[in-house]
Parts: sequence; structure tokens; C-alpha cells
Amino acid sequence: MAVTLTSRLTGVVGDKSAKPLEQAFGMRTVDDLLRHYPRRYLELGALTTLAGLTVGERVTIMAKVVSAKNFGFGPGGRRTRSEVVVTDDTGYISLTFFNQPWRGKMPPGEVGLFSGVIEEFRGKLQLSQPQHDPVGDRLSRGVMPVYPAAAKADSLLIEKCVGTVLDVLDEVPDPLPSAVREEHGYQHLNAALESVHRPRSLAEAHAAQARLRFEEAFVIQTVLAQRRHEAAEARATARPAVAGGLRDRFVDRLPFTLTAGQQEVADQLSADLSVPHPMHRLLQGEVGSGKTVVALLAMLQVVDAGGQAALLAPTEVLAAQHHRTISAMLGDLARSGMIGGADGATRVRLLTGSMPTRSRQESMLDLVSGEAGIVVGTHALIQDKVEFADLGLLVVDEQHRFGVEQRAALVDRSDVRPHVLVMTATPIPRTVAMTVFGDLETSVLSELPAGRQPIQTTVVPVADKPAWLQRAWDRVREEVGRGRQAYVVVSRIGDSASEGVQETHSLVDLHAELAEGPLSGLRVGALHGRMSGDEKDTVMSAFAAGQLDVLVATTVIEVGVDVPNASVMVVMDAERFGISQLHQLRGRVGRGGEPGLCLLVTSADAESVAAERLRAVASTTDGFELSRLDVEMRSEGDVLGTRQSGFRSSLRLLSVVKHESVIVRARESAERVVAGDPTLAAEPALRDAAVALESSERAEYLERT
Ligand code: ADP
Ligand code: MG
Repeated sequence: MAVTLTSRLTGVVGDKSAKPLEQAFGMRTVDDLLRHYPRRYLELGALTTLAGLTVGERVTIMAKVVSAKNFGFGPGGRRTRSEVVVTDDTGYISLTFFNQPWRGKMPPGEVGLFSGVIEEFRGKLQLSQPQHDPVGDRLSRGVMPVYPAAAKADSLLIEKCVGTVLDVLDEVPDPLPSAVREEHGYQHLNAALESVHRPRSLAEAHAAQARLRFEEAFVIQTVLAQRRHEAAEARATARPAVAGGLRDRFVDRLPFTLTAGQQEVADQLSADLSVPHPMHRLLQGEVGSGKTVVALLAMLQVVDAGGQAALLAPTEVLAAQHHRTISAMLGDLARSGMIGGADGATRVRLLTGSMPTRSRQESMLDLVSGEAGIVVGTHALIQDKVEFADLGLLVVDEQHRFGVEQRAALVDRSDVRPHVLVMTATPIPRTVAMTVFGDLETSVLSELPAGRQPIQTTVVPVADKPAWLQRAWDRVREEVGRGRQAYVVVSRIGDSASEGVQETHSLVDLHAELAEGPLSGLRVGALHGRMSGDEKDTVMSAFAAGQLDVLVATTVIEVGVDVPNASVMVVMDAERFGISQLHQLRGRVGRGGEPGLCLLVTSADAESVAAERLRAVASTTDGFELSRLDVEMRSEGDVLGTRQSGFRSSLRLLSVVKHESVIVRARESAERVVAGDPTLAAEPALRDAAVALESSERAEYLERT
């Protein structure tokens, strides 16, 4: 029987074993089983530590029988309960078996492997009805794998099935090309699978893990290298700068000078746009570092060259604001065909999902005719099959809200692609950037414009110091008294019955409370995501125009909202927000001439992890430092995000947070392989692995829409 990675498990290990494996882990093929790597290894000879077990933990332990007894119970004492006490020299635990009287006769000194879930009974830890396997011939190997297990598919069953499979497995195709294996001194996949599942020493197991981990990184990096290669081959229209055009005229009238960093990035973008192949760049820049101006320069260069530019924002509020500020900054340069419009002016249009049909149609008409050089919009731009006369540049603001696929949806429509600029204020650790955004070139804006004010952040622990909350509202009143404005941020809206009664403040309730109580007499507005586009726009414009003193809002204001006069922000239930999110939020204040103040109100216990996170946010305004902390405190899955779920679910051994050097090596090797053989014609196993990875990602994406 030829057993390959694609063979069905049932045919190899039999129905009886295959069924629980499928039920517990969804395993169907030999590959599924062999890629279920041991979580850890037990070194036989050195007994497992019984000290330090916790209730609820599923364990496999190796221990020696100390005593065994049978007790009769039930009618006439016909049923038996066996109690076996075992030790590993660090502690004791009792095992309970029912109606297996031979257990009560286990000879003291016998060593066995026992698996089950640790329970507590009368204050003592025990294993009830554990699986029992003799140590047997494992002792000759010295190392035993411990697998991620489930109730019906425990570690020993998995080990047995893996053994059966490995005994009959043919040579498998290896995604790692032989040159790459040689370069790094790695075994063939067959040998690696043998070593990871049936190692004779811990060192052998670890070497196999390293190789398999590299393989995971390598397949991802191959996909990304292919994407980069494809992008490099793709054509775009060159949009060189036009002397004396809108870009130059706009620079001349800027009310400030660009920072050195802005100038450098602007030049870089200008050069990228001037060649007939698509720009594909990620611009990372701290909150307030002035990314929008830089992007606008690029957009104007494209307009000067006869093309159009689209700016994609994650929320309607942000789209409307961008539209407003860009129109205001451009002034008469954006009033083409209107009274007072400058010579050679263009037009800036807004396009969002909740706009009235008429204005949407107007915008769409201007786009298809080419009348509008710039359009600002939300994902409605993608969904509505908007037609452009000549889309030359796509700018995606605050990337973390947009998936790679969504970006692709706009870009992939024609064979001549637009240039793409992705902007994010969330600093991305290098390894994550290399994995998630590995198909983009990266630029960083690290300095803030001169005169930018520091933001002071203070934690307000209402559990310990209830009086501080009143003090927070007093601070808001003081700022408003000095002509400044304030944000109050809440974690939920509270107008929906389904939210139920919660312990957190709701926007609806707090808005009413503040207006009547601590902030009475002030002009307090409310803003949240379930308001219509028009309503949101009205409130946001009123706040921007200073007609409201305080804005109570949900995280709709998280990204990009720019009201320089706002100087204080109170975040309620701050423990509900992530580190990066709080950092983004507080970036809304301190944008004018005054230092910003951010108060993080929390009822979290001072000792809790949540409180520790808040103190971290208060302690530094360095976004990169915070993103590092954030990554450390979050799980891998959160870091990669759901949109990269294909990548995520393919990761067994690789951590994008911990294994930077592996990713770097894999990237170099993958780059070389793809450069020499872009379609991977000579490496069918690698090609298959890459296709499988891409399709898993795509499949997940399709399921979510
Ligand atoms: P972000 O990078 O967070 O998107 P913005 O582009 O919104 O930052 O810029 C924040 C504010 O700083 C805006 O009001 C913008 O006009 C202003 N700004 C941008 N560049 C400069 C500069 N070089 N000097 C002074 N102010 C600037
Ligand atoms: Mg911005």
C-alpha cells in the first residue's frame, strides 16, 4: 500500500481511530495527522513532575505505583472502585478507576503512563479513569511526544496512529527545495517528520522542529515573494511631476514647512510614481506625524499627470473629515468649474455608503468623466463598482481596517494597475510587517512636526480613588472655560436591547448624565457608529467649528480625527480598549498649540493585568515601544488578525513575534528561489504549498463577506 500525505486516514489507521481524530481535530488525511506536532516531549528516565499540576489540565504523566486497593460499593458491593496512588518522586497523585478490579492489583514499583484531566476531590488532586499505557518499548527511545489532545483523542492514541502512518509512509514531496535544505543544513521532510514524532533524543526533536518552523516561514515568504515579483512585473502609468502644476502650487501655499521626514517620503513617493510600474508602499507614521499632507502631494502629482487619485478611509467620519480638510487645504485649487476656481483646478469628491443617492450619483459622474481628480471614500468605493476615467493612485488610510483582499479588489480591475500607498499610524513590529505586509515596501515617518505638544496621560482608578472622577470632569470644565474642547470616549453605545445590562458606561446614559450633572451648562454632543452619515457629519462639523464643547463618542473617533482645539480626552472604562487603540485615541488631543491631557478612567483592580496595560500606556508616548508591549501582551492570533487567517491557521511552530531571525532567513531564501523560478515550475511541492496557503486565505475571506 502506497501511503502518501494525501491518503485518507481511515484507510491507514482504521475507522475506529480515524473517527475520533476527525471529530476532535478535523483530521482527514495523513498530512493532517503528521502536521499535528507534539506540543512537548517527555524525557523518559527523568520522571514527569507531579508538583505544580493544576486542576483542569489535561496531562500525560509517567509515574510509579506506590499502592493499589479495591473498594466495593453499590448493591451488594458488586461494583468496585480502585484507588491507585502513584509518585514521580516530586509528588503523589491518586488515580481512580471504576469496575476495573485488576487496577487494584497493580504491583507497587510498576511504572506507567497515565493521561487524563486533573480533578480535585476532597481537597486532593486526582486523575479519574485515566488512560493507562505501559511504558513498554518507549524506554528504548528515551523520549516520548506529548500531543495537543482531546477527550476522545488523547496523546497516546495520536502517538499510536502517527506510528502506524510513519511505518508505511512513502517518500513525501518536500516544499523545501533541496538547495534550500542544503543551504541551511536541514533534513528532508520525511526525516523531519520521523524526528519530530519519534525522536531518540530531545536534541533530535528540537532540530526537526526548527526545520519545520523554517518551512512554515518559507512557504509564507514564498507567497509574498511571488506577490512582489508579480507586482514588479505589472505595468502602471508613469505619473511624473509636472513643474508648476497643482502639486507645486500647493507646496507654495502650505502654511508650514514640511519636516525633513515628510520631505524625504514625499520625494520617495514622487520617484515611485514617475516610473511605469506600480508603487506598492506602506507608510508608517506616528499619530499626528502628518501623513495626510504627504499623501496629498502624491495625489496632486497624479492629477497633474492627468490621472485620478482615490483616498480610502476606514470610517465615514474619517472620510468626511478628509474630504473637508483636503478641500479646505486646496482652496481654489479644488474648485474646478466653480466660481473662484483657480486655473487648472481640480475637484475633490466624497463617496460613502450612507450618502443620499443624488450626491452619490454626482460624485460617480464626476469620477467617470474625470472631472474629479480626487475622491475620498469608504469601502463603498470598492463595493459599488465605481468607475474612474483614469485611476492612477489609491491611498489607503489606516491600513489595519482594510484587508489585503479589499486592497486587491480595487487594484486588480485592470491590467494596468494604479499605484498604491498604504498608510498606518499603528506601528508594526518588523516581523509582523514582514509577514503580514510583506508584499509592500516600507517608509517610516518618525518625527512629529515641530511645535507638536506632548500628551500627558493619567490613569484614574475609580475603584481606589472615586473622587478622582469628579476631578476629571472639573478638568474638562476648566479646559472648556479656557476655550478648549474635550472628548469623552465610551466603549459601547447602549441603545440596543441586545447589549443587556452591563457594567460599563454607555454613550446614551453617560451623555444624559454628563449634560445634567458634572458638565451641565456645557454644549455636549454625541457621536457613534450607528448614526446616519448625515447625522455624524453634522455633529463632527459642529465640533470642528467649535459649536460643541464636549463630544461624547465611541471609537468612531479613534483614527485620524483632527480638531486641533481639542485639548483633553476622558476615556471611560479604559480597560476595555487595547494598548494601540488607546494610543490612537489620545492622538486626537494635543494637536493644536496646547499640551494634551488624556485621562484613562478605569474600575480595574490596581493589581490586574488590565491596570498594568493602562499604566504602560500612561508611561510612554513612543508608539513603537507600545506596539512591542501590545504584541507581547496579546496572543499571536490577534497580532496577525483575522484577515490573515489563512496565514495564521498554517502556523504550528512559527511565532511571528518570537522568531524574527527565522523569518528573515526564510525571506532571503524565498526571494532567491522565486527570482530564479517565479512560477516554481521546478518545485511542484513548494508551488502546491503556496497555492494551498493562498487559497485558504481566500476561502476564509469569502466566508466572511
Ligand atoms: P496623521 O499622520 O496622524 O494622519 P495628519 O496628517 O492628520 O497626521 O496631521 C496632523 C496635523 O498636523 C494636521 O493638522 C496637519 O495639517 C498638521 N501638519 C502636518 N504636517 C505638518 C508640518 N510639517 N508642520 C506643522 N503641522 C503639520
Ligand atoms: Mg491620518
